[in-house]
Amino acid sequence: MKKLALHWQILTGMALGVIFALILSNFEWGSGFINDWIKPFGTIFINALKLIAVPLILASLIKGVSDLKDISKLSQMGARTILTYIATTVIAVSIGLGVVNLVKPGNTITDETREELVASYGGEADLKRQDAEKQKNAGPLQALVDIVPGNIIGASSSNSNMLQVIFFAIFFGIGLILIPEKTAQPVKSFFDGFNEVILKMIDIIMLAAPYGVFALLAALVVESPSADLFAALAMYALCVISGLLMMIGVYILIVWIFTKKSPKFFLNGISPAQLLAFSTSSSAATLPVTMERVEEHLGVEKEVSSFVLPIGATINMDGTSLYQAVAAVFIAQAFGMDLSFTTQLGIIATATLASIGSAAVPGAGMVMLVIVLAQAGIPEAGLALIFAIDRPLDMCRTTVNVTGDASVSMLVAKAVGRLRDQPLVKNWNDSYKK
Ligand code: ASP
Repeated sequence: MKKLALHWQILTGMALGVIFALILSNFEWGSGFINDWIKPFGTIFINALKLIAVPLILASLIKGVSDLKDISKLSQMGARTILTYIATTVIAVSIGLGVVNLVKPGNTITDETREELVASYGGEADLKRQDAEKQKNAGPLQALVDIVPGNIIGASSSNSNMLQVIFFAIFFGIGLILIPEKTAQPVKSFFDGFNEVILKMIDIIMLAAPYGVFALLAALVVESPSADLFAALAMYALCVISGLLMMIGVYILIVWIFTKKSPKFFLNGISPAQLLAFSTSSSAATLPVTMERVEEHLGVEKEVSSFVLPIGATINMDGTSLYQAVAAVFIAQAFGMDLSFTTQLGIIATATLASIGSAAVPGAGMVMLVIVLAQAGIPEAGLALIFAIDRPLDMCRTTVNVTGDASVSMLVAKAVGRLRDQPLVKNWNDSYKK
């Protein structure tokens, strides 16, 4: 029998979790059973994801920064590429924040459900304490001071210091670029290997995802049977999806304006890569197809695509950053927290960095969401709330990530005079007829 694709397994796990909990809640012992014997597996699953956040950032950022060595050679293209990537990411986060603040999906939750939520995820006292601590230290330059750790072991020992770990990793990566190649090589190889091990660990954890979501959804159903929580989750998903659609609109527009290529041309050219991104939830897995489509169908010369696209697959995740912004604010709303304007500005910075640090594999964006939450003082336990519907959203955001890489490669190609007037292959599905 053909094995069911992971996303179908996860969707099945979700559905079975809900059905299982609905059936058991007819019995008096039902919710106790789920809380004692099912929910812990969901918690283990979330903990496993949190566990790899720090090593993941260290490994992927150190590797990412030290790989950028080529920039010195390709400085003109390199600087343009990085700046365009950062600009599109900031646009994406801002769209996400705009939508979630306008729709306020978390505010549809009633006070009663909110109290239950807060009680089951750590208690109100905890939230208040985090708030108070943040307020107490908040001098004008505190955000800057917070970025530089006094001690790296201390910084990596708590998930609330992710920005410090990022700082260390980037700093380390820069040091690695600057030392002689011979000395740097073993260190680089070590981090290459380390990075692969971490990616493999994510793969293994994702294998447990169908069971994890089963447990999480079952617990969600018996913990708060309130329809308003489900309605809020649906609204949250809609916010993410509509933000992502807007972002696709932004790409179409900028490609049209800067390269004069029509939306039809662009979408026909890139759509097979988008479909693959949607079904694999991995920009890395989609990269070979993205390269082929961009080179053969969108007219970008290889010299540009082979530089811009691999970097893009690693650091340019507009869909992911948009999702992280929406998710963070949604969780804060669900827990009844008010986020100040400054905190939301901080979210733009952390979501941009967190998306840069996210590996291009399924579920990485959610692991890195821990950073955004921790830095904004939003309870990380909120991850459990959104986890259940994360996979379908991962599929959508990966599609946007890949579309963003392709658009930027066209912009850069145009800017450096490497965009062909006519693509190598005209008919959009010709490569598949060969
Ligand atoms: N799955 C995404 C990607 O590969 C990353 C994420 O989880 O957001 O692009």
